[in-house]
Amino acid sequence: SDHSLVYPASPSAMDWKAHYPSMSPEQTVEFADIGCGFGGLLIALAPMFPDTLMLGMEIRITVTQYVADRITALRLRNSLAYDPPESENVSVVRANAMKFLPNFFNKGQACITSDCLSKIFFLFPDPHFKARKHKARIISPTLLAEYAYVLRPGGIVYTITDVLALHEWMVHHLTAFPLFERIPNEELDGDPVVEQVKTSTEEGKKVQRNNGDKFLACFRRLEDPKR
Ligand code: SAM
Repeated sequence: SDHSLVYPASPSAMDWKAHYPSMSPEQTVEFADIGCGFGGLLIALAPMFPDTLMLGMEIRITVTQYVADRITALRLRNSLAYDPPESENVSVVRANAMKFLPNFFNKGQACITSDCLSKIFFLFPDPHFKARKHKARIISPTLLAEYAYVLRPGGIVYTITDVLALHEWMVHHLTAFPLFERIPNEELDGDPVVEQVKTSTEEGKKVQRNNGDKFLACFRRLEDPKR
C-alpha cells in the first residue's frame, strides 16, 4: 500500500537541494526514471550528463533505500577524486509515479530550455499480464496525459520491455495519443542514451543473461496535437 507516502504540494515545495547538494538555483530535474528499480540507468547516465539533474522514482521502500545508499556511496567515493562529485546530479524518491506526478515536475509546455523534464524512462515496467490488471500498467491513456503535461515539447519518452504484448500495448497507446509521435528506431542508433536504456538496468541485464528479446520504442512529445 502507498497510503503512507507523502507528496510535495508543488514542485517548488520540494527540497531539491537536499537531493542535489551542488545544484544551482535555476536548475530543475530534467530526466525522470519511472520505476527505476535498483538504479542502474541513473548511475550510468550521471557521468554522461554531469550538468543534468536526474531523478529515479520507485514505489518499493527497500529498493528506494538501496538506490539512495548506492548514490551516497558513489558520492563519497567520487568526492575523493573530483570536485564537485560527479554523482551529485542523481537522486531517488519513493513515490507512486502513477499518482501526483505534476506535484514533482513543472508543466513542460511553457518551459524555457531546462526548467522541466526532457526525458522520461519506462524501462522494463511490470507487465501485469492479465486483462483485468491492465489498468495497473504504468502506460495508459489517462497517465499519458500526465506524462505529456510534465514533458517539454521535443522531449522523449523511452520505453523498453522483454514482453512483446506489453511493447505492443505501449506502442498502441503512445501512438494513439495526440501529443506523442514515435521516433523510428533507425533515428535512435546514434543516441548514447539508448545504449544505456538497453543495457544498464538490472532488469535489462537479467533479460540479457536469459537471451531474452528487448523491444524498444521511443516517442517525441509534440508541441501541438497531431491531427
Ligand atoms: N526499471 C528497472 C530496471 O529496468 O531494472 C526496474 C524494472 S522492475 C521490473 C519495475 C519496477 O517498477 C519495480 O522496481 C517496481 O517496484 C516499480 N514500480 C511499479 N509500479 C510503480 C509505481 N506506480 N511507481 C513507482 N515505481 C513503480
